[in-house]
Amino acid sequence: MREPFVWEEEASIMTLTDWEAHFPGLVAGFTVRLGGESEEPYGSFNLGLHVGDDPEHVVANRKKLAEQVGMPFEAWTCADQVHGNRVCQVTAKGAGKDSLEDVIAGTDGLFTREKGVLLTSFYADCVPLYFLDPASEAIGLAHAGWKGTVGRIAEEMVKALQTHYQAQPGDIRVAIGPSIGGCCYEVDERIMAQVRTSTPNWEPAVSPSAAGTYMLDLRRLNREILLEAGISRANMLVTDWCTSCRTDLFFSHRKEAGPGKMTGRMASYIGWKETEGR
Ligand SMILES: [Zn+2]
Repeated sequence: MREPFVWEEEASIMTLTDWEAHFPGLVAGFTVRLGGESEEPYGSFNLGLHVGDDPEHVVANRKKLAEQVGMPFEAWTCADQVHGNRVCQVTAKGAGKDSLEDVIAGTDGLFTREKGVLLTSFYADCVPLYFLDPASEAIGLAHAGWKGTVGRIAEEMVKALQTHYQAQPGDIRVAIGPSIGGCCYEVDERIMAQVRTSTPNWEPAVSPSAAGTYMLDLRRLNREILLEAGISRANMLVTDWCTSCRTDLFFSHRKEAGPGKMTGRMASYIGWKETEGR
C-alpha cells in the first residue's frame, strides 16, 4: 500500500492526502517534531501542554499548526487523555487550546460533525486513529496506546458514530497513523495477557522476542478490532511510519523518555473548514 501520511521534506506536518483530496474542506494529518519553537528536550514542534514544556512555546506551535492547515486557532479542541476507552461528542470548538484548565476531561476519543472544529490529540508512540463517515460528515479521533487498544476504543468510536449519526460501519473510513511499530514495541507477559483477550484475532499482531517478551504491532491489533467492528478493509489506510525508528522526525516515549527524562508530543488533527466545500 502507498504510504497514506505524506511528508514533504522539511514540512512540520504529514498530510492524509487521500482524504483531503476526496473530501473538500476536510483537513487531516499528523505533525512531526520539526519547525517549532520549543527547546530541548521538546525540540522543537511540541504540541503537548502536559509534558513540562514552556506553555508559550506550545501555544505558539499550536497556532503555527492551525495556520498551516488553514483553520483559526479558536477551532483547536482537545482532551485530557487518560489511556482509557471513553469517547466524547464535541458540540463546541475551543476546549483546551491554550490551557489545561478547560480541556475536555478524561477522554481519549473525540467526535463531531460540527464544522469549524479542529479535533486534536497528542502522541509519542501511541496509535492515532482517524474516523470519517462521508454520509453524515462525522469525524473522529482516538488515541490508542496499548491500554486503549485492548480496551477497544476503536470499536467504541464506531459504535458512537452509529448511535449519534446513524453511520453504517461499512461506510466509515478509518486511517491508522504514525506510531511505534511492531519492529520496536517490545512488551511483557503482563500486557500480552490483555492482548490475548482483546480480540480472537490477536495472533497476526504479535511475534515472540526474547524469553518472556513479545513484539507487539498495535496498528495491526487495532486493524483486527476495526474489522470486527464492521469496518471494511477497502476503507482502511494504515501507515508504515514508526515513531521509534525515526526519532529524527518523531518524539518517541519508548526511545527518549523514562524516569527523569521527558520528550515532546506530536498532534493528530482532523476538522472541517467553516466555509470551503460545504
Ligand atoms: Zn520501529
